[in-house]
Amino acid sequence: MKKANIVLSVLLILLTVSCSMDKSQELIVDGAISLYEVNETGFVLKTNYHVTGENLDYQEDVIKQQELLSLLNDIFTDQYIKKVGEVLIFNAGEENVDAYIVNLDNSLDKFRVAIAINQSYDSEKLTYNLVHELGHVIALNNTQAKVIPEGKDCNNYSVDRVCTLQDSYLNLFYQKYWNAFDLEDSAIGSKSMFVTDYAQVSPIEDFAETFAHFVLYDIPSKESDKFIDKKIRFFTNFKELLKVRDSIRHNNRMD
Ligand SMILES: [Zn+2]
Repeated sequence: MKKANIVLSVLLILLTVSCSMDKSQELIVDGAISLYEVNETGFVLKTNYHVTGENLDYQEDVIKQQELLSLLNDIFTDQYIKKVGEVLIFNAGEENVDAYIVNLDNSLDKFRVAIAINQSYDSEKLTYNLVHELGHVIALNNTQAKVIPEGKDCNNYSVDRVCTLQDSYLNLFYQKYWNAFDLEDSAIGSKSMFVTDYAQVSPIEDFAETFAHFVLYDIPSKESDKFIDKKIRFFTNFKELLKVRDSIRHNNRMD
């Protein structure tokens, strides 16, 4: 159990930060509204937490909740919705957190995706955030990374005991765009090397932010030798990710 907790907290810390600079997690737990389980038949309501006031309004807004679940389903596509075990609808209150993911156990096979319902009324922003979270699930699931025993070294990019595989998307991205420039030790490179300010936080966040740009915006031309354009084009090296991009754009009528 201890092992799972370590990974959970690591990912939770990192990925909670993903959508804000705030590391407070208690409020997110406090703000829990509804928990859905994801199975072959779709999203099944597992728990409606005891809530009052504004949170009860959010809980009773079944149409809005279904809208969030449906968008999540469209963005995660058939392939990655299988990696989602639970969806938590929560109220982030004053916290600047829009969404986060957390692994459900050490197998890294299933994740909980948490969506702040109070931050989800701007559909463009919501879509961006969910694609960002998908970027995390793509990079950290069991086909791409493994939890290694305490004290064992990881030769590739790792976050605490989550060790990415050598040919994983995230390790390749890290080796190419972080390790080569020693960005973790230097004064976090130049701003022009990142798609957003937030991407500078860590390789994991850079990966998710750059992935969101790859999916949602035009792919920069091959002729461009701008660092940032090449970085977005990194994802075009993988047929599978191009397919994911196409599916998301098709599902959301962006093609
Ligand atoms: Zn993130």
